[in-house]
Amino acid sequence: MTELRLDPQAVIADLDELADMSGGRFAGAKRLAWTPQWLEARSWLSSKLAELGLEPARDQAGNLWASIEGADAAFMIVGSHIDAVPDGGWLDGALGLMTALEAVRQIARQRTTPPIGVRFVDWADEEGARFSRSLLGSSACAGTLEPDEVRDLRDAEGVTLADALATCGVELDDAPAASERLQGAVAYLELHIEQGPVLLDGARLACTVSGTVGVERHLMTFTGQAAHAGSTPMRLRQDSLAAAARAALAIRESAIDHGGVATVGRMHATPGVITAVAGATEMQLDQRHLDAGELAAMFAEAQEACRRAADEFGCTVQQRDVFRAAPTPFHETLVELARASLQAAGGDGGDPIPSGPLHDATEIGRVVPTAMIFAQSDPPISHASIEDSPERALRVAIDAYGRTVGSVLAREGGV
Ligand SMILES: [Zn+2]
Repeated sequence: MTELRLDPQAVIADLDELADMSGGRFAGAKRLAWTPQWLEARSWLSSKLAELGLEPARDQAGNLWASIEGADAAFMIVGSHIDAVPDGGWLDGALGLMTALEAVRQIARQRTTPPIGVRFVDWADEEGARFSRSLLGSSACAGTLEPDEVRDLRDAEGVTLADALATCGVELDDAPAASERLQGAVAYLELHIEQGPVLLDGARLACTVSGTVGVERHLMTFTGQAAHAGSTPMRLRQDSLAAAARAALAIRESAIDHGGVATVGRMHATPGVITAVAGATEMQLDQRHLDAGELAAMFAEAQEACRRAADEFGCTVQQRDVFRAAPTPFHETLVELARASLQAAGGDGGDPIPSGPLHDATEIGRVVPTAMIFAQSDPPISHASIEDSPERALRVAIDAYGRTVGSVLAREGGV
């Protein structure tokens, strides 16, 4: 099999054709999962695959697959997601999916049997925008979807997740069986826009991704004593908001020390009036790091900072867990192949960056060797209709993706 070269112009033309279905690049994507518009976008995608002589088929979780058989039964997976948040951008998900489509198009054109198979996939409901459950289709394949945990989730109209899936022909209880699709998979590659400011800030067009970060999300409630703002001397106060503020600043420093990120996105103080010391303050804490040990250290330091601050201000503190996710580091050899491809494609070959957002690659990376390539976002905004990337960045990223697929195929037995 000859080297794989993708045509970035073909990818951009497909992206525009897809965007035109909802009024153009910046009109706001209308492809919310499990809706008629999503099904319409998918039937457009199916016709694109049919043009290549491929027969798309849906698995038990609603993911859409198309296969090119290889000489060996092993296969690699290329794909991303076509679903979008309401009025989302033209590149989130679609860039990776149209690039994967171009990869299978070029492989199909070569008319030779690749050494291993290539499977194209459009993961179902990556965004979770309707039912607040992201990565639905990919988590079913990775074996981490528990139907009972999501069955009764409801959208804004009160429709349950299970019912919405059923209208699209997907039985929630059958979804975990989709994991059989990954048997024999030796690699998964996904291209995505960065959706953040790191590449733009570093004047980099594209990069590889070291993995997706782990998350610790907790509610810390400081309890002191509400008291009159005029009559209570400073030394006699039990000020829960002061304690929370002190802790929040210490948590910020700890994130900087460990090379992670920590966010106190909200503090809710009661009674919440200008003339009273805050008797209780609830602090929302989110911490993320790519390294599980560093993340654990950041969280332990946050707990200690909360205890210390509570003591200092005569308060107590209680913790409630909201959400935790382990980091998914990507496959080193595969990331290295992608980095070499980026350099060959005119990228900078610099260090990988961790991904703050979750991706389908997060789920698939738990069970299949996985790598991602990010294209620069400019403006560094996503999940909004103004989302965009410079064409130069798209070209480099698309080219690098094709070269990476080519190098995986060239290694035959996988990575
Ligand atoms: Zn996405």
